[in-house]
Amino acid sequence: MNKENDTDSAPSNFIREIVKEDIASNNREGRICTRFPPEPNGFLHIGHAKSICLNFGLATEFGGTCNLRFDDTNPSKEEDVYVQSIIEDIKWLGFNWTGEIRYTSEYFDQLYDWAICLIKKEVAYVDDLDADEIKKYRGTPTQSGKDSPFRNRSVEENMNLFARMKSGEFSDGAKVLRAKIDMASGNLNMRDPVLYRILRANHHRTGDKWCLYPMYDFAHGQSDSIEKITHSICTLEFEDHRPLYDWMIEKLEIYHPQQIEFARLNLGYTLLSKRKLLQLVKEEHVSGWDDPRMPTISGMRRRGYTPESIRDFCDRIGVAKANSTVEMALLEHCLREDLNKRTARVMAVLRPLKLTIINYPEGQIEKITAENNPEDPKSGTRKILFCRELYIEQEDFMEDPPKKFFRLALGKEVRLKHAYIIKCEEVIKDRNENITELKCTYDPDSKTGGLTAGRKIKGTLHWVSAQHAKKAEVRMYNHLFVNENPANDQAHPTLNSGLNTDSLEILRDCRIEPALEEAKPGDRFQFLRMGYFCADLKEFTPDSPIFNRAVTLRDSWAKVTKQNK
Ligand code: ATP
Ligand code: MG
Repeated sequence: MNKENDTDSAPSNFIREIVKEDIASNNREGRICTRFPPEPNGFLHIGHAKSICLNFGLATEFGGTCNLRFDDTNPSKEEDVYVQSIIEDIKWLGFNWTGEIRYTSEYFDQLYDWAICLIKKEVAYVDDLDADEIKKYRGTPTQSGKDSPFRNRSVEENMNLFARMKSGEFSDGAKVLRAKIDMASGNLNMRDPVLYRILRANHHRTGDKWCLYPMYDFAHGQSDSIEKITHSICTLEFEDHRPLYDWMIEKLEIYHPQQIEFARLNLGYTLLSKRKLLQLVKEEHVSGWDDPRMPTISGMRRRGYTPESIRDFCDRIGVAKANSTVEMALLEHCLREDLNKRTARVMAVLRPLKLTIINYPEGQIEKITAENNPEDPKSGTRKILFCRELYIEQEDFMEDPPKKFFRLALGKEVRLKHAYIIKCEEVIKDRNENITELKCTYDPDSKTGGLTAGRKIKGTLHWVSAQHAKKAEVRMYNHLFVNENPANDQAHPTLNSGLNTDSLEILRDCRIEPALEEAKPGDRFQFLRMGYFCADLKEFTPDSPIFNRAVTLRDSWAKVTKQNK
């Protein structure tokens, strides 16, 4: 899309307005170049999706470009598996970057030269203080810092030491390069921040070439400058770093991108921090980064989320300047809306209870035509098989039903979806008083679509043929944390104590209708009345089908009752 096509129908936000004004005033020749700059130290999460949609979305909307750049300045935490997963996730979300993938590590030589430039300008120095001492000298927000005793080294001495830092003469942490700004600045980021550290770690791309690595703060702004980024969009915590980035760009006399900060996404009942998500993975509280309970893109994909639903969510939450927490219910709503349009309705019984229709002829099998999706006329129909022995959901029968229980009870009638009205005649129990079977009768004249003789049947149940249904495993997911705000949960101060112990329930004896035999990993369905489910991307096989519950139906009961009217 180019700028002429901007219809203003897209939901606006203050960043989009800035971009529009820049185009109108031909600022930076009217060029729009954004970037998405992940650090490859974990998998992407839904917060990153917000940033991806924003950066790629602006570039697409205004005919600009958007780079993908891996900010790989910390080799001790970064790995190629993360790079690969990030690439896969961005593509899956439906975005394409401009040109080749970029890596900050490709700029290491340039960054090193710029560090020398700062030394020569007498605004950078090699410091021998160790990390603790630097911290002590730094002061506090209310108390200014102290100059390091090494602050006034000569240019020659600094040049000499910095070169020797690069050549590997000093041990890790023995020396750092610092900017020489102002130890009394009200902004702690300006109190002579560290620019380079000695670190002997194998880098996922440069291997052992370097033992000296730039700090993120020295690399980030300069990388944006190298790429001639016009709008360098980042989250609010970098607002206080902006004066430092501006300072460096000015001293180096290089191209100056405009940094704009926006509020990061926080989502209820989960955490959006790679560090904490990594802890969940490492301590095996989840099965991996792509565990369907994780707020990662890969976890959500496995759970059954669609790229469309995630993009829709990112549109709806908008972009603001103030931090807030978005309700998980909104994310689920976006998924439900999308899946409602596109998924076939099928019948699956998650907790089976046997039901025998005693007046239905033994051995008789009826093929019933069932619509696949009332929301989608093009979705067609399929055949389902009806016979004497069926399964229904255990929770759809009650011996002592309360008044408004419109499902099955002794002596009561319900409709079986797509089929007949049945009446419960007898309840069979085992020695422990568990209900093992229901004996029912059916009304042969009550077939769906036919006459019902003016009877008011309030309940409609889903079912499967006992003879034809297949066994399946279904994994039911709930919130990962008990508290809506796990990062600030007084009752559960540690990550582990706040975890919801009921976040996963595995049902191993489910029965699914035979049509599901043709499902493939990643296929999504609405199990009538039970929610939306997705054939597991990793473990589903036709012989042992495994489905993940993506999301519940808002009000499963009202919905199906309405559909049957
Ligand atoms: P985390 O705190 O999860 O480790 P991060 O900010 O360190 O996240 P990066 O890999 O540096 O992760 O992030 C890449 C981009 O994604 C950055 O521009 C960052 O601002 C953005 N981003 C990260 N988390 C969020 C979030 N929760 N909401 C919006 N944008 C985010
Ligand atoms: Mg980061």
